[in-house]
Amino acid sequence: METATIPQQPQTDENQESKIDDAIAQNRPCNFADDFTIRTYRTILGVLTEKKNALVIRNTGQLKYKQAINNINHLIVCTESILRSECKHTIVHDYIDLDPDNGGKNITYCSKCYTCFD
Ligand SMILES: [Zn+2]
Repeated sequence: METATIPQQPQTDENQESKIDDAIAQNRPCNFADDFTIRTYRTILGVLTEKKNALVIRNTGQLKYKQAINNINHLIVCTESILRSECKHTIVHDYIDLDPDNGGKNITYCSKCYTCFD
């Protein structure tokens, strides 16, 4: 007789699930996005940016391109806002060299979603 193995679901904290349900019901951020979800938002942002840049290159000033670029900019801002509000950020303070003559600057960003907080 064969026995089927049912994959184990990761155990979730019932209290955490309740907080997420409440946040969704109240349409407010819950800050519990997992790594896969963060990567998904980042991928969407990458595609939106790539397609917007393609339109910018083709933009000859025609209204159809201007409108599409504006629409995609709106989608980028919305997606960045979702990412910023849903990620449980891991804050990193770093220093980047910009120019050997003018020095660099301190930056603060999230190592998971790469949102910059400067
Ligand atoms: Zn983050």
